[in-house]
Amino acid sequence: MIEKMPRDPDYIVDISGIEDPSSAHSVDVNAGSEPSPRSWIGIKFDCCGTYARIYRNRDGTAYEGRCPRCLRPVEVGIGPGGTDQRMFRAT
Ligand SMILES: [Zn+2]
Repeated sequence: MIEKMPRDPDYIVDISGIEDPSSAHSVDVNAGSEPSPRSWIGIKFDCCGTYARIYRNRDGTAYEGRCPRCLRPVEVGIGPGGTDQRMFRAT
C-alpha cells in the first residue's frame, strides 16, 4: 500500500535574474567551478546614489566593478599596507 503524502509542491520556483545586472557583463565571474568565495567590497556610487559590491580582479591587484545604473567603471587598487576598509565611495 502506498501511503499518500501530504501534497508537497512539485517544484520550487527558483527566482533568478534579480541579481546585480552588472554581473551579466562580466564574462569571467563564473569561469570554472571554484567554490572559493570572491572577495568584495561595498561601494557607494555618488554618481547615482546607489550601492553595489565590486569584486577583486584575477590578479588580486584591485577591486573592479561598475555602477549598477550607469555602468560607470570603478577600480579600487589593492596596495601594500592597504586598507582593510570594506566600504568605499566612488565620487
Ligand atoms: Zn552611476
